[in-house]
Amino acid sequence: MQFVTILGSTGTIGQQTLDVISRHSDRYGVFALTAHSNVEVMLQQCAQYRPRYAVMQHEESAQQLRQRVQAEQLHVEVLSGMEGLTEVAAHADVSIVMAAIVGAAGLLPALAAAKAGKKILLANKETLVMAGQLFMDAVKLGQATLLPIDSEHNAIFQVMPRLPYKDLAEVGVNQIILTASGGPFRGYSQAQLQEVTPALALKHPNWVMGAKITIDSSTLMNKGLEVIEAHWLFDARPDQIEVVVHPQSVIHSMVSYVDGSILAQLGNPDMRTPIAYGLGYPERIASAVKPLSLIEVAKLEFEAPDTQRFPCLTLAYDALAAGGTAPAMLNAANEVAVDAFLRDNIGYLDIPRLIDHTLQALPVEPVASIEQLLAVDAQARAHTQQLISAMAASPARKVASV
Ligand code: NAD
Ligand code: MG
Repeated sequence: MQFVTILGSTGTIGQQTLDVISRHSDRYGVFALTAHSNVEVMLQQCAQYRPRYAVMQHEESAQQLRQRVQAEQLHVEVLSGMEGLTEVAAHADVSIVMAAIVGAAGLLPALAAAKAGKKILLANKETLVMAGQLFMDAVKLGQATLLPIDSEHNAIFQVMPRLPYKDLAEVGVNQIILTASGGPFRGYSQAQLQEVTPALALKHPNWVMGAKITIDSSTLMNKGLEVIEAHWLFDARPDQIEVVVHPQSVIHSMVSYVDGSILAQLGNPDMRTPIAYGLGYPERIASAVKPLSLIEVAKLEFEAPDTQRFPCLTLAYDALAAGGTAPAMLNAANEVAVDAFLRDNIGYLDIPRLIDHTLQALPVEPVASIEQLLAVDAQARAHTQQLISAMAASPARKVASV
């Protein structure tokens, strides 16, 4: 029996992880569940999965949950805050940690799991975007096992050589090819993009995901973050990572080898496949995902991404090339901009503009410590927020002129 902590259990990935685990109750037990503030869903998960711990990010939500679990006579210890999250991520009784918190909030608990040598199922790509080098160092030092859950990186992991290597050329790899669905606005003109509302952007054609990553997918920032993620996971230079738009989302990514072979992993777009792969690794376990019928799919299409209309992809490549604290700033500015867009405080095309302006305004430093990265994250958030406030104060002014 292996015990699992699920960071972000009330989210899309968290719930799908519980779905896979519930099909293998002979192999996996739930040690801890964590959420931001959704007491109702957490209570229902506690009743169903009987974890030893439940962690709420907010103290007030934790207090509510404590009363509710007592009333229902559930034997769950309720913790709160970052301290509670890092405790259940690093606890000696835990073997597997699913890191599925969204955004920068996922960094410290994922890092705690790495230092404690856990098998980490990493969905929270923001951890690698913000602190790639420090996180990979912690994985090595803690002798943790890192398994990518992001479908593209999981696909690449599945078709990558298992040998240790110093660089990709040594194992005959030419290039990593990340596939992108292109999102719901692939065919949109600039004028149409200008009018995009949160409700429209929240409708992804192929995947059911949390709000932040759904918006990121529509702007192609998600692919940009994934380029940075691939750089750290597979030791790939930016020029070794190509992005190809593939609207069917059937090929989840590919690796191109020096002999002309391209290896791909295919499947229906359902995150339970990479989740089951991570949980079972190195074995394969059933995920209940419907097998892919190539006859039903009938055709697979590919095209180049349009970085004119979707500049977020270029912003991410540029931040990776700039190195140091630039990707952490990119991530922070993006989180603030996406949040403002979801609240209807800015327009859709303001998202890349705000990120660009934030990156232009702040200095890039070499990465020295997690404390420094957290300070850079806070500074970039404050800067983007200031730009948004200036826009609100003078609605006629576009961010480009702030
Ligand atoms: P979601 O919004 O559905 O869920 C997020 C979870 O994190 C929830 O449980 C929420 O309570 C928790 N959370 C949010 N803010 C928090 C905070 N400040 N402190 C503590 N907990 C907090 O998101 P999701 O779609 O499940 O995505 C989770 C992560 O997985 C993201 O990093 C995303 O990029 C990545 N990912 C998701 C998918 C997908 O298909 N959903 C695919 C690939 C990667
Ligand atoms: Mg992905």
